[in-house]
Amino acid sequence: MSAPTSSFDAVVAGTGPGGASVARELARAGARVLMLEAGDAAPLAGTLAQMAAMAAVPGKGAFLHRDLSLLVRALTTGGTSTINFATAAAPPAPMFAAHGIDLAPALAAWRAELPMAPLPDGLVGPMAARIMAAAQARGLPWRKLDKMIRPASCRTGCWRCVYGCPFGAKWTARELVDDARAHGAQLVTDARVTRVLVEGGRAVGVEAIVAGRAQAFRAGRVVLAAGGIGSPRILRASGLLAGPVPFFSDPVVAVMGTVDAIEGGGAEVPMAAGMSDPQAGITLSDLTLPRPMYQAFAAQAGRVDRLFAHARTLTIMVKIRDEIGGDVGPRWVDKTLHPADRRRLADGTAIARGILEQAGARRIFASHHFAAHPGGTVRIGRALDADLRTAVPGLYVCDASALPEPWGLPPTLTLLCLGWRLGRHLAGAPGHALSADAPAASPSA
Ligand SMILES: Cc1cc2nc3c(=O)[nH]c(=O)nc-3n(C[C@H](O)[C@H](O)[C@H](O)COP(=O)(O)OP(=O)(O)OC[C@H]3O[C@@H](n4cnc5c(N)ncnc54)[C@H](O)[C@@H]3O)c2cc1C
Repeated sequence: MSAPTSSFDAVVAGTGPGGASVARELARAGARVLMLEAGDAAPLAGTLAQMAAMAAVPGKGAFLHRDLSLLVRALTTGGTSTINFATAAAPPAPMFAAHGIDLAPALAAWRAELPMAPLPDGLVGPMAARIMAAAQARGLPWRKLDKMIRPASCRTGCWRCVYGCPFGAKWTARELVDDARAHGAQLVTDARVTRVLVEGGRAVGVEAIVAGRAQAFRAGRVVLAAGGIGSPRILRASGLLAGPVPFFSDPVVAVMGTVDAIEGGGAEVPMAAGMSDPQAGITLSDLTLPRPMYQAFAAQAGRVDRLFAHARTLTIMVKIRDEIGGDVGPRWVDKTLHPADRRRLADGTAIARGILEQAGARRIFASHHFAAHPGGTVRIGRALDADLRTAVPGLYVCDASALPEPWGLPPTLTLLCLGWRLGRHLAGAPGHALSADAPAASPSA
């Protein structure tokens, strides 16, 4: 795709839930918007090969920490929403209220627009159903979760949403990108933003590598939405973020156990149901994954004896809210678990084991931890103000970087709410006007 050269009202770096939602709101309001996206826009094929190209290339989509845990994101148009599990959780209102942010209007708007409801029973897979029955038999508050999935297009016995749903059943931020383009926004793919251009103390655009060549794109406002890892890297490379960049990542372990037989087992939408204890910072859900991903867990846990038991093995995801720590370097990302994180994972694993035993599972084992929600790197209240402004006038950050505290929830819906709100602010929508472009908090993470 050729790069436009004219000046824009806003340039948005990254098209995940955070960036696509800002861009769409601005474009709908008539602003001239440019979206720069590091990944491509190839149609989602629902294949392991495509998912791996987006999310498993070391140093790009996948980051191995010193403790051998893995952190993943997806580099493609629509960002990590293309391969996520489509679970919707409302923003934690008190966390944002503490910063004077009310996301209720944005949440109401998204609820009216997007698919967001528990799956009908016919789409809840047999493994998710068995786990739910066992959890409920133990008196646990296990219930179906809201999914950003259109049941009419979703297929029983299908798992391809995990690789990127090719049927349009799973909502992704690509839909907002398409809508923004329908309203006149421009998209340049394979465009990696490298730094923010600052003149006279104000952000005036970005530099990006497009087709191997550095190009400058000028705009009245710059919104970094390159994700919890991408945005702090751009700020750092621009000399706008000093010191270490600690983060949260919501670590996960998969707890697995084999049952005698389960008809149609191994092919279903993950996270159909689960439970959450916000006080303890522990969330559990079913996590039936395609065979190669299950086998990777079994191999990594040294359980070669379980490699071929995919269709009979129930998996429960234990996800925790971790302490903020570690660092996002220019080419690496690293974080080790805090003792409190280990305790949470151990507590969650014990609950998962109990559920699996209740379901009749044997040979129970757990994977090493991994993570998929990097964020909190450019936090509201520290590096951003409540309007997502950095200390540099005209420069905003709108993605998982902005989340103000340790997290432990599915972030997508919250990021959509932040993007909707920022887009309206920047477009000067009635009731959403920005105050003057005054500097925000200090630019350290
Ligand atoms: C396996 C998995 C399952 C998940 N399941 C769920 C779930 O069920 N529910 C939920 O809410 N969340 C889930 N998530 C997490 C969720 O998808 C992410 O938290 C969310 O997409 C983050 O949005 P974002 O806008 O911050 O960043 P991203 O979605 O990561 O988007 C960032 C964008 O910026 C682009 N980019 C990066 N660097 C640059 C650069 N230098 N220049 C230009 N573009 C750049 C990327 O290509 C990408 O398009 C899951 C994640 C994974 C990996």
